[in-house]
Amino acid sequence: MKRISIVGGGPGGLMTAYLLQKLANSPISITLFESTGRLGGKVCTLRFQARPARYEAGAAELYDYSLIGDDPLKELVEELGLPINFIGGSSVVLDQKIISNIDDVRAHLGVEACEALLSFDRAAKDSVSPFEYYMCGQEEPLAAPRPASRFDALLGTIRQSAARRYVETLIHSDLATEPERTSVEYGAHNYVMNDPRYMRLYCVEGGNERLTQELARRVSATVRLNHVVTEIGRGDDGKLRVAHRHQGVVREDSFDLVVLALPNNYLPHIDFRGGRLAAAMRAHHAQYDHPAHYLRISALFERPSWRAKLEESFFMLDRFGGCCVYDESARDPETPFGVLGWLVGGQPALEMSDLDDAALIEAALKSLPGALAEGGLRFVEGRVHRWPAAVNAIPGGLVPRAQSRRHQPEPAEHPDLFVVGDYLYDSTLNGVLDSAEYVAGWLASQMINV
Ligand SMILES: Cc1cc2nc3c(=O)[nH]c(=O)nc-3n(C[C@H](O)[C@H](O)[C@H](O)COP(=O)(O)OP(=O)(O)OC[C@H]3O[C@@H](n4cnc5c(N)ncnc54)[C@H](O)[C@@H]3O)c2cc1C
Repeated sequence: MKRISIVGGGPGGLMTAYLLQKLANSPISITLFESTGRLGGKVCTLRFQARPARYEAGAAELYDYSLIGDDPLKELVEELGLPINFIGGSSVVLDQKIISNIDDVRAHLGVEACEALLSFDRAAKDSVSPFEYYMCGQEEPLAAPRPASRFDALLGTIRQSAARRYVETLIHSDLATEPERTSVEYGAHNYVMNDPRYMRLYCVEGGNERLTQELARRVSATVRLNHVVTEIGRGDDGKLRVAHRHQGVVREDSFDLVVLALPNNYLPHIDFRGGRLAAAMRAHHAQYDHPAHYLRISALFERPSWRAKLEESFFMLDRFGGCCVYDESARDPETPFGVLGWLVGGQPALEMSDLDDAALIEAALKSLPGALAEGGLRFVEGRVHRWPAAVNAIPGGLVPRAQSRRHQPEPAEHPDLFVVGDYLYDSTLNGVLDSAEYVAGWLASQMINV
């Protein structure tokens, strides 16, 4: 019986455990350590106190690539029996004007802006086809690193200022960083993904957290909640030892294999014993150390009164550096209440995190364009969730690594230690599943060989 430890009970850890269970053809025993009192990580569907209405505090949308090729996440959602709803939105609000299509661009921003935007759009889509976008991160990298230029250089090619502002507002919250802190490639990908030929968006009916709840229900692991993994190193018996703290008491267990399913920003909090492992984990962290930030402000209203003017699952707003506003209540056709969720990204998210909840809720309410607040918004309750450094501004790193190297930071003396993470691919749930599939497949084949 192979003893496997999975550190982290977010989607990455749960997916790894679920896939290992499916793929292993010899008995395994999985112990999953989670530092908090709940499984699910940044997939987090919550309810307001004042009314029975829900909102997503973390991941809001899942990406559908099934029109282009295999789509492991969509297949997993189907396998778990979870119904989905497609979501979409094409409006960008600039200076209080709702711009929903190219005719609106021409009408509100002018002919020059329209031409500049169409020209940027053509160039961006010529630079990456839907299939190339789909394959990104999956193929082994070529020897040459990615172009070193930053995304702001590409945005600078849009000479017309209103068109540039439109693009910046459109993608800022997806990037979760500033254009000068990410690559041309990642920036361009976040632009083209607004075209349904590249991918579509959906959510899980009843809340995205049903995904991690279903996984947790099917995983037969020993789950240790409120256990913070603090140290990992080689024991005298040759196995990996995992030290974990629970209610102030530190204990250690031995495992044949360890998978760290943690975001990159959590890795430095673990003490890796032994010079070689410590150095490899430091190098691994440095390769992906491009923190990006989110802040979510969710507001409950008596009615979704804005729908008279704008009926989309989300729109982009030129406030807080460019943010996305989700009509969370559109996901639940049964609810009479209205719920808006502001997804603020990048530097504004980091800076605003210092403000208290009441100030943030007030700022969010004031940010709504007049047209959407017409007739009076009957605000009931607000909630704030801060996610500093929770995602990656250059997933995969500036110089991409081979898949094996991405997942096994120190192959020479620690071939039994693996990492799983969205930051190795594209900072999404699709990416963390790709990563979990890679590691689970690898471990399952090792078990056959051993
Ligand atoms: C605001 C926000 C919006 C997002 N929106 C989307 C979206 O719309 N679509 C999308 O695809 N993705 C989105 N993402 C990204 C998505 O949430 C991540 O891709 C996904 O959660 C990564 O899963 P994970 O398991 O690697 O990490 P996490 O979800 O962070 O889970 C890691 C778990 O490890 C635990 N942990 C940490 N340290 C330790 C330790 N030492 N010992 C034990 N346990 C530990 C944590 O408590 C946590 O439960 C969003 C993220 C944020 C923050």
